Amino acid sequence: MLCSAPLRAQNADPQLGAVARLDGEITLESERRDLLVGIPLSQPVPWRTRLLADPPRAVVDFRTLDWGDLDPATIPLDGQATALRTGNAGSGWSRLVIELDQPMGFTRAGLTSDAETGAARLALRLSPIDEADFARQAAALAATDNGIPDSALRGGGGRAPLGMRPTLVVLDPGHGGVDPGAVHEGTQEANVTLTFARELAEALERTGRYEVVLTRDSDVFVSLEARITVAHAAQADVFLSLHADALADGEAVGATVYTLAEGAADAAATALAERHDRDDLMGGGVDLTGTDDTVAGVLMDMARVQTRPATDRLARALVGGIRDADLHMHRHPWQQAAFSVLKSPSVPSVLVELGFLSSDADRARLGDRRWRTQMERALIAALDTWVAGEVALQDLRLR
Ligand SMILES: [Zn+2]
Repeated sequence: MLCSAPLRAQNADPQLGAVARLDGEITLESERRDLLVGIPLSQPVPWRTRLLADPPRAVVDFRTLDWGDLDPATIPLDGQATALRTGNAGSGWSRLVIELDQPMGFTRAGLTSDAETGAARLALRLSPIDEADFARQAAALAATDNGIPDSALRGGGGRAPLGMRPTLVVLDPGHGGVDPGAVHEGTQEANVTLTFARELAEALERTGRYEVVLTRDSDVFVSLEARITVAHAAQADVFLSLHADALADGEAVGATVYTLAEGAADAAATALAERHDRDDLMGGGVDLTGTDDTVAGVLMDMARVQTRPATDRLARALVGGIRDADLHMHRHPWQQAAFSVLKSPSVPSVLVELGFLSSDADRARLGDRRWRTQMERALIAALDTWVAGEVALQDLRLR
């Protein structure tokens, strides 16, 4: 089902994501002076640790974890643990509290996931520390509780990782409204991209593996900033901008995949930061009402997340997918350019020129439903390849 972008953006609330369950028994085990804690989960979820004083307690919070009918009193205690409690820590976090008979600090904490079953296990090691160290660690861990979900620190994304939920694709049909894009022999690029985006969205959702948000679903003008904002608000995994431009020389033929040129992302971040500082986002004719936090989030993401390799892998997968389907590709199928609409570095973003309206052959292909279906299948196959690769890398990182 397709809805308008703002609606879907709301539905993409991470708190509405899949809920993990406890997948076995919580284990406590003393090893010399250390305490080992094992927590089996049905799937990886973002998590964070805390220390609380008086009495000393070790706290583990999980994002969207359902404790089910667990009675923590039935869990066998060992070593320095004197009591165990579970509860709700608010804002979608579930809490496990381990009461300790002495000050201890986390000396190891890691989530591993099983690539085959998708199950996960959080392993913690607590070691005795003195009062002063305990106070320092407690303060340092509390300082990370800044209202922003600590998913940025661990677990990633504030929702189930890629591969454990539908991949969220933002499709961006280029142009629209007062901006028809390229116009050739009565064909408008804005219409071509919208038709293709709608068909691709339907095909993607039909697989059950993808959710799609469109930056526009009618012939309306959408600013470049608003297109990027939609991708961020929806927490897109992939941003695909679809175009079918005309080129002056009239010789350009075939599909082309564009990624943002090296260095351009930094320039975009700087420009956006400057605009934000000047507080003229409203004055620029861009309606970003109520999206100030999003813009702030965008800037934070830019500083924090390096998606360049993921974007390159995406471009490579798309070129491969289109080529494997024997569809017409440009003689330089992967190009880099400073397209503004790609300046969304925290979301892997590519621009696909499906073909060029200035080419008679391309224009005929774009108008042919059969050809479009082939191209849509090729893009879905390419996205499948990319997602599988990212999931494999993600599993490696979680280990
Ligand atoms: Zn265009």
